[in-house]
Order: sequence, then structure tokens, then C-alpha cells
Amino acid sequence: MTSVLPKPAAAPVVAPTSPGHGDAFTRHMYSLRYSPDLGWHDGGLQPLANLSLHPATLGLHYGQVIFEGMKAFRRQDGSVAVFRPLENARRFNRSAARLAMPELPEHLYVAGVDAVVAADQGELSDDPDHSLYLRPLMFGTDANLMLRPSEEYLFLVMAFVAGGFFGDVVRPVSVLVSRDQARAMPGGTGNVKCAANYGPSFVAQRKAQQAGCQQVVWLDSAERRWIEEMGGMNLFFVRGSGQGAEVFTTPLTGTLLPGVTRDSLLRMASRLGYRVAEQPLSVDQWRAECEAGTITEVFACGTAAVVTPVGQVKDEEGDFTVGNGEMGPVTRTLRTALVDLQHGRVPDVDGWLHRVC
Ligand SMILES: *Cc1c(COP(=O)(O)O)cnc(C)c1O
Repeated sequence: MTSVLPKPAAAPVVAPTSPGHGDAFTRHMYSLRYSPDLGWHDGGLQPLANLSLHPATLGLHYGQVIFEGMKAFRRQDGSVAVFRPLENARRFNRSAARLAMPELPEHLYVAGVDAVVAADQGELSDDPDHSLYLRPLMFGTDANLMLRPSEEYLFLVMAFVAGGFFGDVVRPVSVLVSRDQARAMPGGTGNVKCAANYGPSFVAQRKAQQAGCQQVVWLDSAERRWIEEMGGMNLFFVRGSGQGAEVFTTPLTGTLLPGVTRDSLLRMASRLGYRVAEQPLSVDQWRAECEAGTITEVFACGTAAVVTPVGQVKDEEGDFTVGNGEMGPVTRTLRTALVDLQHGRVPDVDGWLHRVC
């Protein structure tokens, strides 16, 4: 019989030269419990270790699981800072509210994140391509299979050293438009970060990979024609070129995830002098405008992907190329602006970097 007893944590993986994305965990985690009587309690930093869970743990059965994703960066002056953690704390609470879970005061969320960053920042090299990816998680822990919200919860923060999500070199990705499967529906959970949004997307993701693409583009589930977002990233489109270019992204209809990177880039693009808009785009119009050359660049953005150009689009109604299939100048300008800000190479005028140590 296979043992289900808790095992000691695997030896931490020390940051290799190219740490990839998702398994170079650092040595610590932060944990905090919730119960109706005690509220949030028992918070503390501990070694990263396996959890011991009752097989009837409610979150495992009914999907009361939410998470977040943020990054900490080592800046040019050696300090380590987390990018816009309060925005993530607020989104975490919107996710909690949507799943009938208790909200976590923002200062407790940030304190948990800070504790892990302070303890493990030594594992982050000063290679500017590397960062500490922070993963807060909360789930219902009641050992009870009644179909109702859990009463008790566990909040955890873990971290891993991240390289580039698509490898260390920024190369345009190819995407497959998902025609037969949808990610979110009106009134559903597409605008929050709950675990239940991701498992069902893996089949489409696998299909994209089998078609030679790295990512899936989701369409709205009501009309099956409006571009929503890509995998776990938001999409931006560029019309025209140079200083007169227009940079736009699809509007927050309630069925796509309001990315912190999306919000940041909207603000940065406008400050850089581009015309900025939130505007719906159908897949047919996307194809037509790429063929006509009016849409010149497309890129995806998110904490993991940063800013990643989209070069090729595969769709059952016709494949097309964006621009010349390479990273365009507006994409490069925005990517550089964001990365320079995160690494402290330009002034942080909006106060987006939360210094930890
Ligand atoms: C997390 C996520 C994003 C990007 O959000 P950021 O806050 O920019 O990291 C976009 N779409 C989905 C579906 C996501 O899960």
C-alpha cells in the first residue's frame, strides 16, 4: 500500500541557470488558518512541507480553492520588491467573495507575502531574467462532504524562482483560437482567480499544443466570436505604428480576468503617449485587420508571461500572421518599460513596487 502519511519536504531546488517556471520552490511557506470562532489565526512562516489533509477536505471535492500570482524582483540597488501586491490582495478578496469564502484583510495577505520574500530572497540571483514568483492559495479545509461552504480555511503563500515563462528568450508565440470550448460564461467565475477555471482549460491547451501552438485564445461563450483572453494572460492589440499607434485591449465584460499587468500596461501606454482604449474585437475582425495590416502587433501580458508577442494565429476559419510574425516596436517599448520599472531602472512614479528588503 502506498503511504499517505505526510512526508518531509523534498530538498529545495536551488535556482539553476534557467529555472523554468513552476518547480524551483524556495525553502519556506507562510500559513494562516481561519475558523468562524477565532477568525484568522495561527499565522507563521515555516519550512515548505507537505500538508496532511483529511480525504474529505471540502476544497478538494467542491472546488473552494482560490489563488493569486505575483512576482518579487531584485532591483538594481539590491533591494527586493513585490509588484503591486495590494491589487492582488483585492482581487484575492473578490475571488473569495465569489466562492463564499472569508475575506482576508489586505495587511495580512501582504504580511504573508513579505514573510516568504524576506526569508527566501537569498535564493533569487541578480540575473534580471529571474524573479520570485509568489503563489498565495486559500482553500476550504472542513473534513465534511455536505454540499455547503467550508467553515474553516487555510491560507498559504509559497514561492518559486522563475525564469521566462516561454523560455529565457522572448520569441513570438503562436496561438489556437478555441472554437469548441469556452473558458467562462456570463455570471460564472471567469473574472476571479479560482482553481476551477483552470482544470477545464487543459484539454484546449493540449489541443493547441497538438496543433503546434503554445497557447489558446478564448472566445466569449454567448456569441462565440468576441476575443476574451489567452490561456492565463490578457491580450493587447496595436493599430498603426510609431507615436501615433493605438494600443487596445478587450473590455472587462465579467468573463475575463482583470490582470494587474493589463491594468499597469494601460496606464503605462497612455503615459508613453499612445492612444489607449478598451474595445471589443471579434475573431473575424482580428483576422481581417491583420490581413489588411491595420492591426500591426498583438501581445499577451500577465505576471508569468510579462509581455509576450503573438506571431501566428491558427483558426479553423483561416490562419493568419500578425505583422511580420516578429515582436513589433510598440510591444518592445511596453515590455522594456515594464521590465525596467520592475527592476528599479526607472523611477517608480506610481508607487507600484512594494519594497520588502
Ligand atoms: C492571472 C491571469 C491573468 C493575468 O493576470 P495578472 O494579474 O496580470 O498576472 C490573465 N488571465 C487569466 C485567466 C489569469 O488567470
